[in-house]
Amino acid sequence: MKATDIMHPEDQKAIGALKKIPFIDEMCRSCMEIAYEKIYRGENLGMMVKVDNSYMPELYQDLKDVTKAIGINTPELFIYNDPVMNAFTFGETNPYVCVSSSLVEKMNREERKAILAHECGHILCQHVLYGSVVETLRMIGEDFGIIGYTLTGPVKLALQYWSRRSEYSADRCAAAVVGERTFQASMLKLALGLADAGNDPYRLVKQAKEYHAHEKQDIWSRIQQNCRVAFFSHPQNVNRAYEIDRWKKSCTYKRIRQSIAPNENLYGNIS
Ligand SMILES: [Zn+2]
Repeated sequence: MKATDIMHPEDQKAIGALKKIPFIDEMCRSCMEIAYEKIYRGENLGMMVKVDNSYMPELYQDLKDVTKAIGINTPELFIYNDPVMNAFTFGETNPYVCVSSSLVEKMNREERKAILAHECGHILCQHVLYGSVVETLRMIGEDFGIIGYTLTGPVKLALQYWSRRSEYSADRCAAAVVGERTFQASMLKLALGLADAGNDPYRLVKQAKEYHAHEKQDIWSRIQQNCRVAFFSHPQNVNRAYEIDRWKKSCTYKRIRQSIAPNENLYGNIS
């Protein structure tokens, strides 16, 4: 799988612009490798539990299956103790993925794979690296007064906007690897926080239509909702579900899915 297969157009545009800055990605990659990756890996080894072929081999095998489907090296995998279902990744040279205990406990194997594939989508798209590039530029800008204090707010808003678009790219990776139906089931569980999410995996897609009607009922509602999400790092759950429901009709989704699961009846899953 290529990063460009799954990248949201606006995510692709933002990273394309950052790649044009000479040496900045090499500088950030080296900085991450010698500093933050080592520091955080130490924290993970110190506080979390590492999963591998000999400990929780089923979960580790799922990660290996996911990375094989995507075509990236298998990162280190850790579990941390948290009642909130969540996961994150960090690193560029030696990336790792961390999943919460609640997520491991409440999601079934396929749903967990969706989450692992989402995190590996961030690795494939180099979101951590380019996130650090943006952060470096922002700090340089602030230190040298290029970005004035009055502009810091808009820059931060732009970063959050890109962050939300990068989540859509990672979601596409998850849907491509596990299939859009399983992706929707995992999103529903993330939104609910329950082990039993009922029998309608498209619940959030349907709710998205109600949300959009609410959002678009008048200009005041639009302003309210746009202001609410402006500082979010992730899109709303309903929009994540809705975006994948749209993307599943694309040729790219069908092509990747056909190569990963050639026997799947794609059209049987259309909601
Ligand atoms: Zn993410």
